[in-house]
Amino acid sequence: MSSAMATGPDLSQYPGGEDLYRLRHSAAHILATAVTELFPDVKVAGGPPVDGGFYYDFAKPTPFTPEDLERIEARMHEIVALDQPFEYAETTREEARKLWESRGEKYKLHFLSQIPEGAKVTTYRNGDFLDLCRGPHVASTGKVKAFKLTHVAGAYWLGSERNEMLQRIYGTAFASAADLEEHLQRVEEALKRDHRRLGRELDLFSIHEEVGPGLVHWHPRLGMVRHVLETFWKEEHLKAGYQLVYTPHIASEKLYEVSGHLQNYADIMYSPMQIDEQAYRAKPMNCPNHIMIYMSRKHSYRELPLRYAELGTVYRYERSGVLHGMERVRGFTQDDSHIFCTPEQLQSEIEGVLQLMDLLLTTCGYEYRCYLATRPQEKYLGSEAEWDFATDALRQALEKRGLPYEVDEGGGAFYAPKIDVKLRDAIGREWQCPTIQVDLNLPKRFGVVYTGPDGQEHEVIMLHRALYGSLERFVGIFIEHTGGEFPVWVAPTQVIVIPVHPKAHDYAAETAAMFRAADLRVEVDTRDEKLGAKIRDAELQKVPYMVVVGPRDAAAGTCAPRRKGQGDLGTMPREQFIERITEEVRTKAH
Ligand SMILES: [Zn+2]
Ligand SMILES: [Zn+2]
Repeated sequence: MSSAMATGPDLSQYPGGEDLYRLRHSAAHILATAVTELFPDVKVAGGPPVDGGFYYDFAKPTPFTPEDLERIEARMHEIVALDQPFEYAETTREEARKLWESRGEKYKLHFLSQIPEGAKVTTYRNGDFLDLCRGPHVASTGKVKAFKLTHVAGAYWLGSERNEMLQRIYGTAFASAADLEEHLQRVEEALKRDHRRLGRELDLFSIHEEVGPGLVHWHPRLGMVRHVLETFWKEEHLKAGYQLVYTPHIASEKLYEVSGHLQNYADIMYSPMQIDEQAYRAKPMNCPNHIMIYMSRKHSYRELPLRYAELGTVYRYERSGVLHGMERVRGFTQDDSHIFCTPEQLQSEIEGVLQLMDLLLTTCGYEYRCYLATRPQEKYLGSEAEWDFATDALRQALEKRGLPYEVDEGGGAFYAPKIDVKLRDAIGREWQCPTIQVDLNLPKRFGVVYTGPDGQEHEVIMLHRALYGSLERFVGIFIEHTGGEFPVWVAPTQVIVIPVHPKAHDYAAETAAMFRAADLRVEVDTRDEKLGAKIRDAELQKVPYMVVVGPRDAAAGTCAPRRKGQGDLGTMPREQFIERITEEVRTKAH
């Protein structure tokens, strides 16, 4: 275990706790022990526990095969049976260097060279395997019973693309076989729901080398999902007194000098493009543009609050290593709003945001938890009084809405206290999406004011909030939450009409037209296939309703709907089916 050598691991932060950390760290050493025994030519690099398991990196000219993993795992079980103690020892730099030099362990020699002069060189030994390591470990290998190697992946030495590619073996370990089993099942379920996989299988989206990593192309089916979610969003925002605005995708650097983005966020902004002697940037945030709209004229306190809402597309740099399907990208559309209000209005505005958020999240089938992130310890803008006022307003609003919350002490942005909200998906994972911030910075930088009842200008209170977060991320998570089985109100195709016989083709077309006239999204499957195959294909495409029609239905004006996952609903008049599905769409059932 070497990557945390410099500082030592902070075990209190490890997900699952210190005991699990010890266990997985020990399992990583057992893995390295087994590999060095079975493959004497392999060089060992290092490997720590990670969230959900552990890994270890090895240099080996040919890839580890699945059969290799089985052998390694079997050897690990033998090492566990030997119950070798993990022995701690301090050694001299010279002694350690000699040992690893004699074995040609150049990666270990590198880690050794990273230990500051005069600092202790600590090692752990089990059997013949000695590792540069600060621990901690369990007492002996026999304590590590429930473990599994999961997969191998390439990993650059020291994480740099300029270095050679090593092979990283991943595994996980738990205190009991039951815990391990439960974890493996959860992982398998997550894999089945992976939005990148479903994105391919259901023809939802793509990302292209020719265009660039982290830039998402929405295909027609997912385009419809987005349209539905955006329409819902717009309707509810208009009802809640928001006004829609649209702003450009690029802006002069002058804007970002004033906003402070050039100074504070240069590393996430793309390089400037030169237009008429002026440097422009792709916009990383919508806030400065909304401020421009607000400041285009004077505002009296009587006009406030003003709530500007925009589905605003922004571009931010993310390292290629962290990009992940639709969930971590370089271009995305925030469902962004900025509320300009007076101090007296702040709390009720936050309450309004929380109410709207609750509607959006629960309609999409999520439970959620709120976190109140307060003033950072060291670097922050504004006065303590301002922070107290803003933080109090957030807290009071949460309490007024009766929302339980946890306090994330010092977790605020340097310019704003905030409420972070985490969704809980169908398999119990948490995702940070909505955020509500009270800005203590931009109104000052831009001089954003309103005229008060006293005829004087006062600094406006500015609230940033995104409820979906970004459409890309939200929809990516939604694909995983639903496993691609979108609720009927969201499903790109809600009904597929399936004629059982060519004689029913006309009736099928007429039925589809009737459904379309009732605002349903309909396809007709007139392929020359067996009924069973058509139903199977519709199920694979996760279309919620299949409506089977035959010549007899044509005579009677009936149809035979099937609900995916529920089966046949029986023959009924078409009007009755329309009533049923329309009600499901209207109530946004999930
Ligand atoms: Zn270690
Ligand atoms: Zn903003």
